[in-house]
Amino acid sequence: MTPPFPRSAADVPLVRTRTLGDLRLHAIDSGLQWLDGGAMFGVVPKPLWERRIPADERNRIPLAARCLLVETPDELVLIETGLGNKADARAVEIYGIDSRPADPLMGPDRLQAGIRALGYTPDDVTLVINTHLHFDHAGGNTWRDDGGALRVSFPRARYLVQWTEWEYAHATNERTRASYLADDFDPVHAAGAFDFLHGEGEVVPGVSVVATPGHTPHHQSVLVRSRGEVACFLGDVVPTMAHLPLPWIMGYDVEPLVTLESKRRILGQAVREGWLLVSTHDPVIPWGILEEREKKFVLRAVGGEPVSLGVATPREEG
Ligand SMILES: [Zn+2]
Repeated sequence: MTPPFPRSAADVPLVRTRTLGDLRLHAIDSGLQWLDGGAMFGVVPKPLWERRIPADERNRIPLAARCLLVETPDELVLIETGLGNKADARAVEIYGIDSRPADPLMGPDRLQAGIRALGYTPDDVTLVINTHLHFDHAGGNTWRDDGGALRVSFPRARYLVQWTEWEYAHATNERTRASYLADDFDPVHAAGAFDFLHGEGEVVPGVSVVATPGHTPHHQSVLVRSRGEVACFLGDVVPTMAHLPLPWIMGYDVEPLVTLESKRRILGQAVREGWLLVSTHDPVIPWGILEEREKKFVLRAVGGEPVSLGVATPREEG
């Protein structure tokens, strides 16, 4: 079976919803981008990775930029803000960034359009959590209006990120610079909307952050809990479901061996406790339950989502 890999953002469902205990989770796809397949899979040879996600004629693979909106009794929590609307012509050409909403009246980008499609407005969001501040995760923190001015996207929300990630984003070098765009986060700080985190813990009832360093030194993932069920928004510790095998680590990661240990820890806990894993970048699969069978990670599809190459993912060793 050929999986339905998207060619444009229009091929990706804007919103998918499921329940977790008493809560409702909405996966909102903020758009599509195309990144070099070799860079996405690090040391994994192309004959292996292209069986999971096929490359285009420029060797790029399609990647989602998925966000998760969580309805808790007291808060409307947005995990990640995706690609936003600020990509310039060069970024569109290089990365194929496609984040425009089908209906411009629904908002400046697909994330805001998805929030409106659910019956909310950006003003209803009370908490925004960034796993890290790369442009494809924090791009929708702000948006550029028709007059060219930068605006905070969720003006009534507190924005959470690790303080050390904030520092790292402002101390870039030749290797890390291209991933951090100050327009994604400095206006949020200027508005006094950042609450910086110092380590792991619960941030509002039922929502906690956990350290998953390696992709960046202070990357965090987000856990949502309700009635014994747990969902984990992985962020870039496991960017697509094709990256579930432990050694499948992005070339972009600044500390790949640290990523390895973060994956070992978080995926081990996910298997033991039957977590729902939520993928940021998988082009097809927003979520699934991780299981281990015969020493291989296998993702069990949930909620009628498509079964594709990424679903049965062996942990290939050696
Ligand atoms: Zn990243």
